[in-house]
Amino acid sequence: MEKAAGNLKRVYTVADPLIAGHIETILTERGIHCFVRNRFLTGAAGEIPPLEAWPEVWVAAEDEAVSQRLIDEVVGPPDAPVGNDWQCPDCGETIEGQFAECWRCGGRPE
Ligand SMILES: [Zn+2]
Repeated sequence: MEKAAGNLKRVYTVADPLIAGHIETILTERGIHCFVRNRFLTGAAGEIPPLEAWPEVWVAAEDEAVSQRLIDEVVGPPDAPVGNDWQCPDCGETIEGQFAECWRCGGRPE
């Protein structure tokens, strides 16, 4: 591991690179510099890759708290009860129950 990159914190890990990208977009829109590790997975289709290969969202240490709060707003705290899947009223995407807004267009359930 190199240590030259400064003080970085991992704020989110998720199996789906689309969700990691969605979180990256949200943080960037708030002016928070972030980057995604392991964005491009090489695994067999339909297979969940091992945890260490999941996309990870990293931010500077000083942005960790605010980033975590924004992520919690979008995906809910990690221990929140998982609701039912819902369909986005704007684009029709089926969204898993733990997400408060559509990962595709940012829409919210009606
Ligand atoms: Zn949508």
